[in-house]
Amino acid sequence: MKSYALGRPARRTCDNGRVRATVVGSGPNGLAAAVALARSGYEVTVLEAADHAGGGVATTEMTLPGFRHDVCSAVHPIALTSPFFRAAGLMDTVDWIVPEISYAQTIAPGRSAIAWRDIERTAAGLGADGTAWRRMLGPLAKRIGGVVDFTGNNMVRVPRDLLTTIRFALRMLPTGTPLGRSVLRTEEAQALLTGVLAHANTPLPSLAGAAAGLMLAAHGHAETGWGYPRGGAQSIADALIADLTAHGGRVVTGEHVRDLASLDWGDPASGDVLMLDTSPKLALTHPDVPSSYARALDRYAYGPAAAKVDFALDGPVPWADEALALSPTVHVGGTRAETEASENAVARGRISKAPYVLAVQPSVLDATRAPEGKQVLWAYIHVPNGSPVDPTELITAQIERFAPGFRDRVIASHSVPANAREAENPAALGGDVLGGAFTLMQAFRRPVISPAPWRTPMRGVYLASASTPPGPGVNGMAGWFAARTALRDRGMPSTLSHVFA
Ligand SMILES: Cc1cc2nc3c(=O)[nH]c(=O)nc-3n(C[C@H](O)[C@H](O)[C@H](O)COP(=O)(O)OP(=O)(O)OC[C@H]3O[C@@H](n4cnc5c(N)ncnc54)[C@H](O)[C@@H]3O)c2cc1C
Repeated sequence: MKSYALGRPARRTCDNGRVRATVVGSGPNGLAAAVALARSGYEVTVLEAADHAGGGVATTEMTLPGFRHDVCSAVHPIALTSPFFRAAGLMDTVDWIVPEISYAQTIAPGRSAIAWRDIERTAAGLGADGTAWRRMLGPLAKRIGGVVDFTGNNMVRVPRDLLTTIRFALRMLPTGTPLGRSVLRTEEAQALLTGVLAHANTPLPSLAGAAAGLMLAAHGHAETGWGYPRGGAQSIADALIADLTAHGGRVVTGEHVRDLASLDWGDPASGDVLMLDTSPKLALTHPDVPSSYARALDRYAYGPAAAKVDFALDGPVPWADEALALSPTVHVGGTRAETEASENAVARGRISKAPYVLAVQPSVLDATRAPEGKQVLWAYIHVPNGSPVDPTELITAQIERFAPGFRDRVIASHSVPANAREAENPAALGGDVLGGAFTLMQAFRRPVISPAPWRTPMRGVYLASASTPPGPGVNGMAGWFAARTALRDRGMPSTLSHVFA
């Protein structure tokens, strides 16, 4: 493998005459951009700060040998419906596990609510709220393609499936404002919904939380469900890297790009491009950044963060409610009021003593993740940006509340407080794992309001990360949209079917 030299004088093109694409960051968006450009004839080099590739889709033995933990993302509802991943063949090259239970919410010790992939089964478990649940999510789950077209895109655009978009928007009002408190009346349904709304790391109720939560809840009852790759999230990165290298591209790890002024990425006049799967604030280091764009990037805000613990366990989590045994995703949050209190504390700069814990136990359905008889557990809580709090005890105590004996099952753990995440991933400012606060305003202004926010005013430079539409989550779409914009700017074929012909 050639070594990549930083700071050399710009060349017009590669020695072989091909145009160059330099991608900074090897997260799913960076890799998606890299694959699309390599398949379109660019000579692609991906520069990654970490010592391993994959960004948010990486799996490592961070506790003990044989225990394979997801560094960031663990469950992938929007990967399975991603138009880019589907075109790139990831439905075949990754071995997906699609569980019968999409997610569950602990309400009290021994009492939970369960979102089965089968909406009828879910409704049956929700008693008096069964019909309301079916009415709320059934039409969205049936037209999940319409939901993906709307939520998986730039908000400054007319959606293709207007009927589904209108249905979605109408459900956001009761879900995301105090007006709709009475739509769901049972504690089970209220808590189940709140647990999924809380993924957005926003105050609750809020319209941004409703948008993210409804999108995820609709996926929970779609055919693709809340799937995840056998072997861990790394399988997604591996599949994309295999495609990239098969098309002449390469990834160089251990290359932290701190300054675009001294990065040799080629000559934009010759068609060379630079893709940033990084914080958009890196673009501020470009020598030609116009002051109006610099002001917009300065305004772009980062929000609350995540503090995470990975556990190696001596056996399964001893849930008081045995129904949770086969639910890979468990929202350990209590009632609606408790979950909301936890999220609203974070918005006020505090951490609840009984925090909402997002927990994933992938090894209950994937034996490759831990030695025989053992388990891995992935868990995080939301915390204020930059918080130094080690979440191990808070998370352990909250899980113990719903799974007495959990503490005794822990044989090793590894924690990453919010203020340590940036050292692992320079894009996660202050431990914000969403690439910038997911407020209603920043759903539109990501990081600028534009029909093509991936294009910067600096020629040949594109933003290709979760800080651009459609925002956070593993689906590669921001990277694909950035690559598509670059291809269009050069008048090259720019549809998925052209790129993957
Ligand atoms: C704890 C956690 C849990 C999550 N859980 C889920 C989940 O279950 N499901 C889901 O869909 N999403 C989840 N997410 C979100 C998801 O991981 C991200 O939205 C997604 O990875 C964003 O992809 P990306 O390519 O934009 O950025 P990233 O995946 O963050 O990748 C960016 C890459 O660029 C590198 N980089 C950044 N700056 C530089 C630089 N200056 N020089 C060189 N390299 C640089 C970083 O090291 C990193 O490898 C989670 C995130 C975290 C942190």
